[in-house]
Formats: sequence, C-alpha cells, structure tokens
Amino acid sequence: MDGSALTSCAAVIILLFLPLGASDDRLVPGRALSPGNTIVSDDGGFALGFFNPSNSTPARLYLGVWYNDIPELTVVWVANRDTPVTNTTSSAPKLSLTNNSNLVLSDGDGGSRVIWMTANMATAMVSSTPTAVLLNTGNLVIRSSNGTMLWQSFDHPTDTFLPSMKLGINYRTLTTTGRMVSWKDPSNPSRGRFSYGSDTNKSVQLFLWDGEHPVSRAPPWTGYLGKQQLLAATNISDLIIYLAYVDNDDEAYISYSLSEGAPRTRIVLTYYGEFQAQSWSSRSSAWVVLWKFSTVECSRYNYCGPYGYCDETATAPTLATSKCLDGFEPSSTEEWTSGKFSAGCRRKEALRGCSDGFVALPGMKSPDRFLLLGGGRSKYEECAAECSRNCSCVAYAFANLSSGARLGGHVTRCSVWSGELMDTGKVGELNGETLYLRRAGMGESGTKGKRTKSNAVRIGLPIVGSGILVLVCISFAWLILRGKNKKGTKRKKIRFEGMSISDEFENENPPHDQEFPFVRLEEIALTTHNFSELCMIGRGGFGKVYKGMLGGQEVAIKRLSRDSQQGTREFRNEVILIAKLQHRNLVRLLGCCNEGDEKLLIYEYLQNKSLDATLFDESRKLLLDWATRFHIIKGVAKGLRYLHEDSRFTIIHRDLKAGNVLLDADFKPKIADFGMARIFGDNLEHANTQHVVGTYGYMAPEYAMEGAFSTKSDVYSFGVLVLEVVTGIRTNSISQTMGFPSLTVYSWNMWKEARTNELPDSSILDTSPDEVLLCVHVALLCVQENPDDRPLMSSVVFVLENGSSTLTSPNRPAYFARQTAAMNQIRTDVQTSVNSFTLTEIEGR
Ligand code: ATP
Repeated sequence: MDGSALTSCAAVIILLFLPLGASDDRLVPGRALSPGNTIVSDDGGFALGFFNPSNSTPARLYLGVWYNDIPELTVVWVANRDTPVTNTTSSAPKLSLTNNSNLVLSDGDGGSRVIWMTANMATAMVSSTPTAVLLNTGNLVIRSSNGTMLWQSFDHPTDTFLPSMKLGINYRTLTTTGRMVSWKDPSNPSRGRFSYGSDTNKSVQLFLWDGEHPVSRAPPWTGYLGKQQLLAATNISDLIIYLAYVDNDDEAYISYSLSEGAPRTRIVLTYYGEFQAQSWSSRSSAWVVLWKFSTVECSRYNYCGPYGYCDETATAPTLATSKCLDGFEPSSTEEWTSGKFSAGCRRKEALRGCSDGFVALPGMKSPDRFLLLGGGRSKYEECAAECSRNCSCVAYAFANLSSGARLGGHVTRCSVWSGELMDTGKVGELNGETLYLRRAGMGESGTKGKRTKSNAVRIGLPIVGSGILVLVCISFAWLILRGKNKKGTKRKKIRFEGMSISDEFENENPPHDQEFPFVRLEEIALTTHNFSELCMIGRGGFGKVYKGMLGGQEVAIKRLSRDSQQGTREFRNEVILIAKLQHRNLVRLLGCCNEGDEKLLIYEYLQNKSLDATLFDESRKLLLDWATRFHIIKGVAKGLRYLHEDSRFTIIHRDLKAGNVLLDADFKPKIADFGMARIFGDNLEHANTQHVVGTYGYMAPEYAMEGAFSTKSDVYSFGVLVLEVVTGIRTNSISQTMGFPSLTVYSWNMWKEARTNELPDSSILDTSPDEVLLCVHVALLCVQENPDDRPLMSSVVFVLENGSSTLTSPNRPAYFARQTAAMNQIRTDVQTSVNSFTLTEIEGR
C-alpha cells in the first residue's frame, strides 16, 4: 500500500482552529482553553487544542495534541476520544486546570457539564498552584509549583507511540503503562477494534487484540533481556531510530528516540490493526511508512492449532514451519498437507495418567492459557513436582528470574498447563524457554537430567516488554539490515558477517590482512547512540564497554581509554594478530576501529557476562551446578592451552580471573582480554595500574614480587580461578576462608586433611566427589610457589579430560601477605621493571 494512503487519521482531518502565532505552552488555573485557541510547545513542534476530525456539522469536537510543524494535521493524542463535544452552538467547551491539579474539559453554562477530566490521584497532597505544560515531546503534563509531575498524557496513550514515551511497568505503582487502542476509523478517534497491551488477567504477556480476540501474542517475559539495555538503530537517509529496552529498580520499559534533525517519526496502531512506523517526508509532503508489522501466518495467534507449533527457527523456505509437538501428529493429515493447520494435532499415544513423565522442549515460545503457580514454588524441582503430582497437568515451564531490588531481587515463574496447548512456537534457545511436555511412554525420570541450561539463562523481570520487543525489534533489525544493504552497494564491502567496513586501506599500503574488518567510527557511534550511557554494559580497566548491533549481530564494543601510547600502525598490526587467534574458548575479536584518537575493539557479545557476576552472586550462583562448573574449568583450561601452546604465537594473558571469563547463553566459558596488554601498551602510569599489572589474589608470587613473567604465571592464575569455581569463594575474601590467609592455603589445608569434599560451594547440590578432588588437586599444583613445579596447560587439560592416578602431591602453595605497603612495593617493583621485562611476549614459533 502507498505510504501516503496510509496516513490513516491524518489525511481526512481538517483543523478547525489554527494555532495562534504567539500561543503559550501552558495553562494555569483561571485561564481556559477554548476552540480557536491552542497551547503550543516551546519549540513549536506540538499543539494542544480542539479539532473536528470528520469536519461534520454540527462539529464533533475533540481535545487533542497534534504536530504543529507539519502541514497535514496528524493527531497523536486525544483526551475525550469517546465523548466528543457536540453542542457547540449554545456554550463552547473549554479546558481548564483546577486548583487541585486536574485538567477538566467541560461545556454547558458556566462549564457545568464535565466531558472529560484527568483522574489525578496526587491532588490531595498538592497545595501549591499547578501548571499544565505541553512539552516539546508532545507530552502534556501537569506539574506542581515545585516541578513534581502529577500527571502526563504519555501514561495514557491513544494509538500513537511517540519518541521518549515509555511502554512498560512502573515497579513503584505496580502499574503497566501504555495500552494502545486504535481509532475506530480515520475520521473517528473513539476506541476502535484493535488494541495492544498486556494480558488483562496476568500481565506477563502482551497481546494484539481484535476486540476480545487475540490476533497475535508475544510469549511470557523470559527475563532474557533483564538488566541490560538493548539498543537497535537504523539509518534511513537522515533518520536514525534508537530503540532502547531499559530495566532498572524503578521500572522496565521500552522507548525510542530519534537522531538529531530527524524528520517527524511515530509508531502508530492503525484503525485496521497494523503497527506502523511512519516518517514525515517533506519532499512528498506525506507520511511514509518505514515498516509495518502485519500478522501473517506464524505471527497469527494459534496459527498451528492446539498442540501444533510454528517453528520460527526453520530458515530455509522449503522447511515446514508448522509442526506437531513431540508425541503428536496432525489431527487431519489431509488438511495439514493442504496447508490448513487450525485443527492442530492429536496425541499419537494416549496418556496413561500420572505415571507418564515429561519431555523437555527447549527454545519454545510457551503456550497461552497457563496458570501461574505462586506460593513457594521457587525452585524448578518444586514446579516440576507440582505438575507431576497433578495428573491433569500436561506441561510446565519454569523461569528463574532475578529482578530489581523492588521485587526482592529474585523472582521465579512456574507456569502450568492443564488444557489444550494453544499458540505454541519454537523461537530458539536465546529467546525461548524450555517447555516440559507430558508424553506417553516417558518414565517418571523422563525429565531427569534433561533440564536444559536454557532455563538458567533467564535473568530479569517477568512482566513486560517482550511483546513490544518482538514486534518492534524484529522490524528494526530488518531495517538495520536493509539500511546496511543499501549502504553496501556504495562502499567496498569485505567479509565479516555483513558488517560494512572502512575503506581506509584502499588508497594506502595494503594492510596485513585485507579481510580484517576495520569498522567506521560513524557506524559504531550510530549503534551506540553516540556512546550513550544507555548502551553501556560495563566498565573495565581499559575503558567503557557498550552493546551494539553491527551487521545484524549483537556485539560488545570496548572503547579504549585515550591513554594508549600506540601509533595507528602498531595498533592495527596487533589487532590483526589477535583477531587471527580463534578458539571456542576465547572471546572472538570481530573487528576494530582506529580513527583519530579513538581506538575501539569489537567483540562477539556474550549473553551471560562475566563469570564473577554469577559465581559470587547469592541468587545467580545456583545456576552453576557441578556439571556446568566442571565444563567452565575445562573450557578455560583449553582456551589457555591454545594461547600458550597451540596458536602460532605464545600469548601470556597476564590477567586471568573470573571477571575475564565471559559466559555465553549456554554458560560456555570464553576467555576475554587476552592480548589487551599488548594492544594497550605497558604504560603503567596512565592505564589503570591494577588492571595492567594484574589482579591481587590471582598474581603468581614471582610476578607480583619481581615482575617475572611466563606462561607459568598464567597457570598460577588458572589454579586460583579453579579454586574459586569449586568453592564459590572469592580469592580476596578472607572472611570465608576459615581463618586461613588465602583461598589457596585454605584449600591446601583441606586437601591435606582429606577434607576436599567439604570444599565445594554449598549451593552445588550434585557434586561429583571424584571430579572435585581432581580439580582441587590440579589447582593446587598450579599454585605451587616454584613455577617449574606448575604443570603446563596441555597437561592440565589432559588430566581434567582423562583423570590421573599419578599426579604428584602438591606442597603448601605460594602465598604472599596482603598489605597495602607490600602491594605498593609490588607495583613499584613492577613499574621499574617494565623496561627490563617483556611483560607480554608474542613470539613466532
Ligand atoms: P578489568 O579491566 O579489570 O579486566 P573487566 O574485565 O570486567 O575488568 P572489561 O573487559 O572492560 O573489564 O569488561 C567490563 C564488563 O563489560 C564485563 O564485566 C562484562 O560485564 C562486560 N563485557 C565485556 N566484554 C563483553 C562481551 N564480549 N560480551 C558481553 N559483555 C561484555
């Protein structure tokens, strides 16, 4: 459909009263706004006034906010959408602000008939004079004289989602905001057929409704994006849309903003039920549709019928997307093969009852019509037991969520199903959750050992956002790719997963590797909203870390502080060198940027952040069962072996610690920050000394005391890390090591007294004593005082993989006292030794 024809309400509305040139931006008690007058925002962008959308006689007047700076009237908010003012001849309607801070729209003699008013709960507390102001964002707000906001139109949207508006939940008031309702038709702003918002019964999932009927459903919030900020950006000519998902202690919401100088842009739910992003084109003097979300096939509610599901992970066009759940077959094969899925599926084998167990289906958009079990089902086991016990329970899903402080910091969701499973989907491990489905022939132990890790990665709040994210993010992601493709035709493109790269080498000497992606600063600034705090996901010794999207891929962007002493050429050479190191247990360096003073490194994005954030967090550490911990230990060992022995160079990490091991969505470990010292240079005065030197507690004594460096100092750090993973105790935590001066000495003592089985973290329920013993034994060998007594990483990997009965007994490990003076001494020694020691060696082999 033509963009200009889709301007819905805009095209047919004729403005009754033009705004006055010198309008005020506010209303105060005692002053009324009547037809013919407008209140105009400070920058002239929006106006509040009366309009007659149908241009009927007698007029049907509505109070609303519209764009004041474009020629075609486009209303973005309506106050009295269901109660138009019709009797305009006898007494004109007026809008006034009462002393108790409510806006009142009234008509009749002396304004005796109230047509619409704000229900401002805060009024009783307010004694000072309120003001109603139309802000430059189009938000009409009521403020008390001390500036406190008492009410805002952005909390009561009609059909339009404007930049800086929030859709989400406020934890303080526990209210959801932002249910959008379409207009009835282009000339009638009263509530139409379509609405978008949270489920009225349980606010954990979002629906697009057609009246009472769901048209499309976003799955329950899995918490996957919790405590992060997601940002997507797209570039269409002079327009960039920044989409942000924010989750903090006060609220969780989705919002968006526009680049400076961008044309007017809005997201609207049209009267025919389509989400559209529209942008005003001054060239064609019309609204242009940037994207629309149409409900077709799999996005339609219950498209595959009961017990069927849409497989959205099936990519090739030939792959069927409509499928039956495990243990089910199409109810009517004939209909199914002819592409009619609404009858859904039936069981291949009837259930016997409570004796049947459950099959785990990971990565699912869980079905609708679930019952949320509260009351103490705070563990997966309790949720599973509840469903097993109840013979009519056909499926369950458990989400282990942690949240902001206001919700107690830890929330779980146990959903159970007893009827038909409707509107199920497969969306992949990242966005979905594991559905446990009762199936004939599965023994009681059917689910045992099958609990997938995907449950464990859900961190966040159970209430908002995913629906909007599904609808909005997907569309934005599409835009990004489209924008990229358009750009790619103009610019030289080289390999790297679709990321367009700088052509800075084209006129220069050829780089060391033509294929290496040097990304333009402009692209990075775009995706990080010009390095906005909103996109920041962490901060380390080398600078801030941002999340972004490049080439359709989530990336972590490390902005090196400007203290690097290296020249452009050296930086480039080194990045190329390090990018060549590839191993599944190393964080992948995807590209870099080196323009002007800016040095940026682009890494693959790891969903579960750093190991320390989970290992030492009381609620999150439960996610690390023994099998996961053992995998992490072995993965880190393999990554380190690669750095030391298997790559083309010998790379010494120098700062291996729990904070430098990142975890992917499946909790697989990847070592980060290898080679950073090399990239950054060894400038101890300007860089964060603690980070460049290493981290107390992980440093081998010969390095800490003498600055002597070798692969064996990394082996020492690895030993400490293993003890941390086993015990869950921070190396620097004196309080938890039972009076021993360090974690290494404490662990050695327990080993010597044959009490190794007491070492594992009490939150691990299912340890394997043999594996624990092996790990502790290896770790103690790694932390031996004499570097020559420490094993090579290749031996460590071999022993961890195969076990060993011939390991030597460790001696008392190295330990040096933690005293400020001593530490200062260590730093001085290392600083003075910088010139005489090669702190990081990269040698050809
Ligand atoms: P230090 O500088 O002391 O080593 P650090 O390793 O925590 O500290 P950075 O490597 O700069 O510092 O990372 C800071 C934070 O940014 C990390 O703790 C992590 O939460 C986040 N982060 C870094 N890299 C990534 C990545 N590739 N994916 C996801 N998050 C990341």
